Amino acid sequence: MPKYIVLLGPPGAGKGTQAQKISSSFGYPHVSSGELFREHLKNQTQLGKLAQGYIERGELVPDDVTIAMIRERLTRPDCEQGAILDGFPRTAPQAEALSAMLAELGGKVDLVPYINVPTRVLVERLAGRWTCREQGHIFHETSNPPRQPGKCDVDGSELYQREDDQAETVLKRIQVYLSQTTPLIEHYRSQGVLVEVNGALPIDQVTQTLSELIEKEVLV
Ligand code: AMP
Repeated sequence: MPKYIVLLGPPGAGKGTQAQKISSSFGYPHVSSGELFREHLKNQTQLGKLAQGYIERGELVPDDVTIAMIRERLTRPDCEQGAILDGFPRTAPQAEALSAMLAELGGKVDLVPYINVPTRVLVERLAGRWTCREQGHIFHETSNPPRQPGKCDVDGSELYQREDDQAETVLKRIQVYLSQTTPLIEHYRSQGVLVEVNGALPIDQVTQTLSELIEKEVLV
C-alpha cells in the first residue's frame, strides 16, 4: 500500500527543506506543487503561462489546473510506493480531490506534519532564501548557507532569489495561507493524522522529529 505524507505549514516554514531531507532518507519522491509550477514557467508551457500571473501576485493558481498537475505527477511510476507532498493541498477542494485521487491509487493521507512557525519569522526566512535553478534545492543566507555563495551544494547549479520571496508578495502569500489553507489544519486534525511540529527549531532537529514520526506513524 503506498504511503503519503502531506507537509502543511505557512510559506517559509521549511516544508521544502524538510521534504528534500526526508525524501532522500526514506526514498519517497518529493512532490512540490510550487516547484512543478516553476518548472512549467521555466519551460514556458501553457500551464506555466497560465500560472505565472497568480504566482507573481502571491495568489493561488486555480484548483482545477493545480489538481490536474498533481494527479499527473502522483501517477508517475516513481510514486508507486507513495510521496511526500509539499505545498499541496492548499484549499479544501484540493484536499478533497487528493483523498479521492489517493483512494484510486490504493492509499490515503497517512501523516500530516503541520510545521508551525511564528509569522514574524517567515518574512525574514523568505527574504534570505536562495533556491537552486536546476532542481529547487533550498538554502538560506544565515541559517543554511551553501558551501560556495551562489552555487548549489547538491548539483552545482546557480542559486537565485525567487521573485515571490520579496516582502510585499510574501505578505500576500501569508494572508492567502491564513485564509485558504489554515482550515486544512482542522480537517486533518479531525481525521487523526495531524501532528504539530515546531518549525522554529534548527533544521536538523525538525528533520529528526519528522523522521521519528514517519517511522512511528507511516512505516508500520
Ligand atoms: P510554493 O513554492 O509552495 O511557495 O508555491 C509558489 C506559488 O505557486 C504559490 O504562491 C502559488 O501561486 C502557486 N502554488 C503552489 N502550490 C499551489 C497550490 N497547491 N494551489 C494553488 N497554487 C499553488
